[in-house]
Amino acid sequence: MLYLVKKRTLKEIKSKIENGTATVMTVQELIDRIGNDEKVQFEDVDVITTATKALMSGLAGIFSFRLSPPKKVRKFENVSMNGIPGYPGPCPNEYLGIIDLILYGTAQSKTQENYSGGMLFRDLVEGKSIEIVAKSVEGIEITKKLKLEDFQFARMMGTRQAIRNYFAMLNPTQKKVETIFSVFPIEGNYSQMTFSGTGAMNPFQNDPDADVLGIGTEILVNGSKGYIIGPGTRNDKLKPNMQTIADFKGMKPEYMGAFKTSYGLESICSIAVPIPILNDKIWNNIIKSDKDVPLVVLNVVGRSRVAEITYGHVWSNNFFVKFNSKKCKKCDECSVEKDCPTNAFCLKEGIDKSRCFNCGMCVVSCPDNAFEADLKKVSMKIETINEIKEIPVVLRQSDRYGAIKLAEELKAMILKGEFILKKPIEKLEFFPKVF
Ligand code: SF4
Ligand code: SF4
Repeated sequence: MLYLVKKRTLKEIKSKIENGTATVMTVQELIDRIGNDEKVQFEDVDVITTATKALMSGLAGIFSFRLSPPKKVRKFENVSMNGIPGYPGPCPNEYLGIIDLILYGTAQSKTQENYSGGMLFRDLVEGKSIEIVAKSVEGIEITKKLKLEDFQFARMMGTRQAIRNYFAMLNPTQKKVETIFSVFPIEGNYSQMTFSGTGAMNPFQNDPDADVLGIGTEILVNGSKGYIIGPGTRNDKLKPNMQTIADFKGMKPEYMGAFKTSYGLESICSIAVPIPILNDKIWNNIIKSDKDVPLVVLNVVGRSRVAEITYGHVWSNNFFVKFNSKKCKKCDECSVEKDCPTNAFCLKEGIDKSRCFNCGMCVVSCPDNAFEADLKKVSMKIETINEIKEIPVVLRQSDRYGAIKLAEELKAMILKGEFILKKPIEKLEFFPKVF
């Protein structure tokens, strides 16, 4: 039998976009259409938009700004923003009064409790003033308030972004365990499960061999145009990831911030990536649904494998968390207001959707079920003890709803000609896995 290889070029896709005949869809739209038994074929779709919104610890802000007139000090050596220490340099800017600074998203403030680089980045994007305190080598201390618009250069770099999904975690031991994979210490005896990953929406899930994504691919980082600048620090074949850069100016606060875990604050970042459907291989990856995407379950202590399920077990039109004020009994102390990992809930106002991560913690912790979302209970075979267990999901550390929103924004930009698809300049290098 003669098998015809299906192909189209980027040039053809771009001219279809220009003359208004291209079909651009988010992955979620494609999944929904296929799920509704619609026959969607290679010929029907030109570009899909993929996205993830998740905890991404490899974030750093790179800033350059003036703090004093030239000649006043030789150079600055201790610099903080809202109490968070940064790393001045590498350029010393001798006698210029200018500071170049790198500040980590995971760094914690020395002056404000529960305040991290991820929150600072969001505050900057929200237009808030940031207090800079800098000490020069001569011992002169300067304090100044700056807003994002005052920075000559303010970009977010990600060293390991949009990793191809992640894992689920459970605790087989007898004791609770504090971990970055849970808001509260995760209970033992296989009684709770948390997970990360936007499943079939994830960019690398749709291009696992990086056939389309490469150095120079334009992307959206928190809504701002940015680029893939290289492979992420642990870019291996199983879990590909990317290094990115994007201007803080143009980012949207709802896609960023920080997430409190029982072992500290992690940064939130959202990335959307277009995938032009150039051939069958790309198409065959794209049509995979959540049920086709494996989710490996690990022991939170030591991260050894205990089971395997799929993202179809945890993501199924259950993306959005709602608050039903009629069910709220106005407890003396609202546990959700106190412990919401993104400070998105207050009793007076309800859920601030620009902060909510749709993590589901509130669904589990509110005693009167005032929060609604089907977090799922998953039946799985625990390989280590050869037993079937049904384990409830208590936390989602990726926000599929937020990812869909960003993928929709990217789709609209492509169709309006505001986001031009480009060929990467080089392939992403894969590294051998380091154990
Ligand atoms: S814990 Fe639930 S019921 Fe109690 S005040 Fe908070 S939202 Fe209302
Ligand atoms: S889902 Fe609930 S706990 Fe999670 S961020 Fe939103 S309001 Fe907070």
